[in-house]
Amino acid sequence: MTKLAPVLSAHWDEKDSFTIAAYTRHGGYQASAKALAMDPDAVIQLVKDSGLRGRGGAGFPTGMKWGFIPQGDEKDHYLVVNADESEPGTCKDTPLLMANPHVLIEGCIIACHAIRAKHAFIYIRGEVTHVVRRLNQAIEDAYKAGHLGKGIDVVLHVGAGAYICGEETALLDSLEGFRGQPRLRPPFPAIAGLYARPTVVNNVESIASVPAIVANGAEWYQSMGTEKSKGTTLYSLSGHVTNPGQFEAPLGITLREILELSGGVRAGHKLKFWTPGGSSTPLFTDAHLDTPLDYEGVSAAGSMLGTKALQIFDETTCVVRAVLRWTEFYKHESCGKCTPCREGTWWLVQILRDLENGVGTEDDLAKLLDLCDNIMGRSFCALGDGATSPITSSIKYFRDEYIAHLTNGGCPFDPVKSTLFSGANA
Ligand code: SF4
Repeated sequence: MTKLAPVLSAHWDEKDSFTIAAYTRHGGYQASAKALAMDPDAVIQLVKDSGLRGRGGAGFPTGMKWGFIPQGDEKDHYLVVNADESEPGTCKDTPLLMANPHVLIEGCIIACHAIRAKHAFIYIRGEVTHVVRRLNQAIEDAYKAGHLGKGIDVVLHVGAGAYICGEETALLDSLEGFRGQPRLRPPFPAIAGLYARPTVVNNVESIASVPAIVANGAEWYQSMGTEKSKGTTLYSLSGHVTNPGQFEAPLGITLREILELSGGVRAGHKLKFWTPGGSSTPLFTDAHLDTPLDYEGVSAAGSMLGTKALQIFDETTCVVRAVLRWTEFYKHESCGKCTPCREGTWWLVQILRDLENGVGTEDDLAKLLDLCDNIMGRSFCALGDGATSPITSSIKYFRDEYIAHLTNGGCPFDPVKSTLFSGANA
């Protein structure tokens, strides 16, 4: 029955999987040697042919992104790896980097060669000090072994921990030493990115997927996944489940199948709602258990695959409270650059707080939807749009629950029943 397909996670259960010795033992750094002997354009074509799409959320074809970098322009080119994993529920890059940091370094070497860059920057958030230490050690070991420092260098940059710095142009500003805020596009990073030079910004998982593609070929990668969503990917399962964690499977697996592999929703409870791609993607319910978790399947069902962060909530959870908590997060993380998001997220929190406490009116639901309508598509970057997703989708599927808060004069749920951590402040 298993539909798991460990490629990135193949050796995670080995005690020394993060060391250069273990990585080399499993054939590590052979793909970069192979790629360095190839014409850079042939490497780009190989990645294009594999069908690999960006794993950071947008799903843009990786090879095509590399192909946008102008060639023969005599400018410096840069590769920037986005390791600023911060979407609520997303926990794939951190375990990947802890278990196998060298696959990212090897991916950087291949990508730099393909786009004719001499420098790769890995931008990571400062809170994950254990990952920073591990990556620093891995980079040092790669230099010592001669994989780095011969035309390609990797620099690890530790950010201060802001959600907006996961947005690629805000990340570039932060990397340059400025306050992290999104840039107006065009120009796109491929033309004027880091230090106004042609730059590719890719997610950790995207770059880490490249060595196996170079080693095994595009056809091998194409043989996994669905028609338009190729390969395997890391799904992060969290919340009210028996065995949370990372599950690597071909794109197109369903939540029902992942739950079967992970022991299901916690004993004695049933699924109420879930996020297919983190909290900025519209919620799903138990009606979506068989939706293929690939870019097309999730989009056709009205949401987004995003970062494949499957947050599971059972019937003990108050959807209004969950949405309020997410909205507070987006209000806090709004960078303040544009009015719809800066002001709008503040108002969303006020109204949701009233509704959760049963002191609003039914008109507030219309007000919430109107506010969302004025934020969605009118914000400078995707943070504003994303903040509206849990609100509009929860009103669509759970309008009665919002009303029940009003008729009940407060939240009808006992928060202690939904908490997973005894003693936690529910
Ligand atoms: Fe900043 Fe929000 Fe506007 Fe994005 S949408 S630029 S995070 S204020």
